[in-house]
Amino acid sequence: MARISSFVFLVVEMCCWWLINGNKVLLISMDGFRWDYINQVDTPNFDALAGKGTRAEYINGTFVTKTFPSHYTMATGLYEESHGIIANSMYDPLFDDYFNKRSKQTKWWDGGEPMWVTVRKQGLKSAVLFWPGNESEIRGMRPNIYSAYNHTMPFQTRVDTAIRWLSNDIDLAMLYFDEPDSTGHLFGPNSSQVRAKVKEMDDVLGYIVKQFDQANLWETVNVIVTSDHGMTEVDYATRHVDLSEHIDMNAIDKIPSTGPTANILPKANMDDAIIRNLTNVPHVQVYRKEDVPEHWHYRNHRRILPILVVADEGWVVLKGPEEYSEPDRGAHGYDNTLMSMKPIFYARGPNIKAGYETLPFNNVDIYPLICELLCIRQAPNNGTLANTENFIVNVDQETCAADTSGSSSALFSLPVVILCLLIKQELQVL
Ligand code: AMP
Ligand code: ZN
Ligand code: ZN
Repeated sequence: MARISSFVFLVVEMCCWWLINGNKVLLISMDGFRWDYINQVDTPNFDALAGKGTRAEYINGTFVTKTFPSHYTMATGLYEESHGIIANSMYDPLFDDYFNKRSKQTKWWDGGEPMWVTVRKQGLKSAVLFWPGNESEIRGMRPNIYSAYNHTMPFQTRVDTAIRWLSNDIDLAMLYFDEPDSTGHLFGPNSSQVRAKVKEMDDVLGYIVKQFDQANLWETVNVIVTSDHGMTEVDYATRHVDLSEHIDMNAIDKIPSTGPTANILPKANMDDAIIRNLTNVPHVQVYRKEDVPEHWHYRNHRRILPILVVADEGWVVLKGPEEYSEPDRGAHGYDNTLMSMKPIFYARGPNIKAGYETLPFNNVDIYPLICELLCIRQAPNNGTLANTENFIVNVDQETCAADTSGSSSALFSLPVVILCLLIKQELQVL
């Protein structure tokens, strides 16, 4: 009798494993890694990754092409107007409060469900190193492991940390590197310093691959290497549009940030005058919020203020002469359809087609892609799994319940999942 019951137990466990265990995922972001940087220097490790996995020539980021908005789009699969992180620095009229890169209060981040929360809700484990939002409690949850942002942590230490996580019980690991963005800002995207930094990031990738080989992780972990946006040349001293030369600055209540774009909150009844004075100013486009081009998906959130000014590529919108002295030679934030704003995409692993080049897709598609690789259900999002499934292999989409409607395979019903998770937990205790 005991032998029969343990046999039944084993069969149930195997079925459960088959039902609810996808492979693991490591999502890596190298900030500001423009799609064509790999053509400027030798990048043997990126080339090798492409050979053993899938690459897109570039992907399409969201507008605005800034770090916090773009990373939160990747994490949630939502457009910026949907998740609410619409700038690195923003003002919320309802909260009457400002957000910046150090803001961790839940109220700013709760507009979306990041994948590290989706993972936990379904009984898997997530660990996140420095991805924007990882330090906040979102929809009642945090990643199983997260840490305060520390840009001085050596890149090798970051990799070692992720390898340790994935060698243990973490199912989704997310890793953030602040380069080549920082060097791109300082010296511009066409500088020798950026070329050197790209080689350094290629070495970091080589180190990741070596550690994966040694820890024998390639059979169970899918790795994605991507970025949030690109970079273009700027010169704040000579290529700026100074708002104070065109409008009465007393007509403006708030401008939370300037640069490639600026959100403007006008004082009462001053909208028309501001729009009139900025229309036809060279090197900028001015939009009423409701007229922002549809394809930017950048209208429907209260943090997008009534007037949006977008500079032409390479130009910046400034409040006055005090901002001319910004020394940066590179910037991003511009129209996401500009080639200079496009990020890289590489993937390799047990569920990724080898030696394959896919067509460009959108960074909102990364969230459903990762849910599929992990075999978990997606929260509602703006991405499309069909845009990436051409390079997914060996995943049974029926059982993974990939669609958000919850109407997939009857096998994958909630009671079955709960039963499986309970049995799994029991087995871990034994
Ligand atoms: P930006 O180029 O202004 O869009 O933002 C890039 C910068 O954001 C990086 O150089 C980091 O200093 C900063 N950053 C990135 N991730 C985080 C984080 N999780 N917390 C705080 N700051 C971050
Ligand atoms: Zn960035
Ligand atoms: Zn940047």
